[in-house]
Order: sequence, then structure tokens, then C-alpha cells
Amino acid sequence: MLIYIHVPFCKSKCNYCAFNSWVAAEGEIQRYVAAVLAEVSAWGERLGKRNVSTVFIGGGTPSLLPVAAIWRLLASLPKYFPIAPNAEISMEANPQSGQSAQYYSDLLRAGINRLSLGVQSLDDRMLHLMNRPHTVADAFRAMFQAREAGFKNINLDLMWGLPGQRLRNWKAELREVIGQLRPEHISAYGLTLEEGTPFQTWHDAERISFSDEKELGHMFLDGAEILEEAGYLQYEISNFAKIGYQCRHNLGYWEGEDYLGLGPGAVSTLDGYRLTNPRHMKEYLKMLEQKQTPGIAYGEAEKLTPQTKLMERIMLSLRTQKGFSAQAYRELTGNNFFDEHKAIIAALHSRGLIRIRDGNMALTRSGMLVSNTIISNLFSRLPRLEGLRGRELSENGGKPVASSLRV
Ligand code: SF4
Repeated sequence: MLIYIHVPFCKSKCNYCAFNSWVAAEGEIQRYVAAVLAEVSAWGERLGKRNVSTVFIGGGTPSLLPVAAIWRLLASLPKYFPIAPNAEISMEANPQSGQSAQYYSDLLRAGINRLSLGVQSLDDRMLHLMNRPHTVADAFRAMFQAREAGFKNINLDLMWGLPGQRLRNWKAELREVIGQLRPEHISAYGLTLEEGTPFQTWHDAERISFSDEKELGHMFLDGAEILEEAGYLQYEISNFAKIGYQCRHNLGYWEGEDYLGLGPGAVSTLDGYRLTNPRHMKEYLKMLEQKQTPGIAYGEAEKLTPQTKLMERIMLSLRTQKGFSAQAYRELTGNNFFDEHKAIIAALHSRGLIRIRDGNMALTRSGMLVSNTIISNLFSRLPRLEGLRGRELSENGGKPVASSLRV
């Protein structure tokens, strides 16, 4: 099982963000930590001992929590869930002024062994426009302090397709990251305009503009090429890693492993059920204070139908380099994937959008560019399996709302 802990607090709200996060009110962080500890024990009693291979503390901005709180959260898990000795324990952090190498060594001592820094851009004007609470200098400092503290597995989150960003800027940023920051892993997300965000409003009012589709396509394709030339393997549409540094938590999620999501709005998939915690702090606290069963108490449990399982497997695995396995299709439908979808597979193949290897169908890089279209085309051809129609699909291992992905 994978565990995801959602920390919903941020220093300020970024202008493009639709994640379940907000600026913490007085005393809210302490109440949150106590509530997650209560949730861990509620789940522990309900699930019994389940082996855990990865823990991911995401957000929001987990680095807003005092290190002592991270300690308490991580220390609460082994009582209920045996954690593998080689477990990957990741935490997201924003580069912030005022942090020190000591802060990062405290995180290491607390058990974090993979750090994910939200750098996003190496252009201070862009960071300002995005309302990021840090500068490029903060990002460089954070990286060097984390290294000095001893972190050997660091991801940097970067974004492309930002307002006014040109292809040459993006390529230059990538080269600077590769040459100077040298992380083990890079997540490169294309910006998506989210409903209700300042970016969406400014775009509608023509106050900001973006590159055209052709230039965006080059940002994705040329960016991936630069990364691969530097030894970062593209193992998922937006994720690149040096050999041996793929994120095991995300891989487990894309491969359909069960995961337990803790915290407001966090999603779990366990034993064929999808459970969603209340999104707002007040309801989340109420659920735990009243010792109600997480998720199910709020009527949020959804039994995953065969149709949903099939659609999720296709959607998630087609994002990865390994691709969708015909074996999984047979297990879920009893049919032969390649026979049943001969026409569309031939059409995609002849256009260079897919490759087929070892009984798996994977998207080529050009296919990844139009992955949404390919996936919806496949969905429209799927057999109708017994049970209900597929429900809305979530995109990210346990995160409440997740979509900064254009591709
Ligand atoms: S993008 Fe990240 S740091 Fe910014 S508001 Fe959203 S969750 Fe917080």
C-alpha cells in the first residue's frame, strides 16, 4: 500500500492554482496535525496491518509544517502500518528564505529520503506573476542546502507554457537546471488554465497571453529531448529521472496499487473502493472529532465498477513509458485488446503516435502530445462492462484536486 498525506496550507495562493490549499488560520496547523494523527489511528484500526512501500507528504506546502510535526506524522505510521525498510519517503517543499541546511538535515533525520522542491521557474518576473512566495535565488539556496544536508534524491518541479514564456526561455531554463542544480528527477508540467484562478480571469480579459499550440508542442518535445540527452529518462508524460530515481510512489499509483490518502480532501483507493475525505478543514475536523469512519462516514465511498477500473488503467498507464498492457485488458474484460481495437491501433501506429512492445501499447512522444484525444477515442470504443458507467477520474496519487497538466 502507498500512503499520501495531504498538507493543505500554503504561504499564499499561486495565481494558477486550483489545488485544495489555503493560507492557514491561527492555530489551524496544530489542529490539522492532531486530526491527521487521529485519522492514522482510525484507519489503522480499520485496515489492520498493511505493508507500506512509499509515503508521500504533498500539498499544499508541507514545508510550512514545523519539522517536529513531520516527525510526529511519520512516527505515527509504523504502529499501524509496517513500513518497508527501504521505503521511499517523499516530501514536497517550497524554496523559502530563512530555511537552512539544518532544516533539511532535520527532515532527513525525521525520515524523509526524497525531497521535491517546487522551483517552477528560473525567472523572477515569472515567479512574481505566478505569485510564488520565493525567488530564483531562494531555489538555488534551497537546492544547495538540501545537498549540503545530505539529500541524495531530489526532484525539482518546473513549469512550461507560462504567460509570455518563449521556447528559447524554457530551453535555457532546462539547461541551467541540468547544468547547475543537477537534480536526480525533474517533473516538467505544462500549465493548464484552471477555472476560477487569476490566470484564467486575466487570460479572458486578454491581460496575459500564451504561446500558440505549435510553440507549446515544441516546449514539450524539445524539452523532453534536452532532458533525455542529459540522461533523464522520460518515464511518464511529465516526469524524467536519472536511472534508479523514478518516483516509486507515483509509479505505484499509475500501476494501480492501493493507496491511503490522509488529510482534507485526500483520496484513497482501497480494496476496490474510492474514498474521499471532506475537502474543507471544518468538515474534516468534524469527521475525526466525532470519531466517524474516514471517507465512508460522509457517504463518499464509491465502489469502483469494472468500467471505471478499465478506464483508469488505460488513462494512467498510457501516461507511462511502459504503457497499457493487453494482459490487464484481458483480466478486466476477458477480451483481446489488440483484436478488439485493431482499426484504431493501426491508425495510431501508422501516424507514429503509439508503439507496441511485449504485449503493451505505449504512446510515443508525439502521441503524448495528443494523449487526451487518444485516450478519449479509446474510451469511446470500449465495451460496456457490467455495472455502472465510469465516474470522473482522478489524476494524481491521492491528491485532492490535481491538474496542472496540459498534456
Ligand atoms: S501551486 Fe502549490 S504552492 Fe502554489 S498555491 Fe498551489 S499548492 Fe500552494
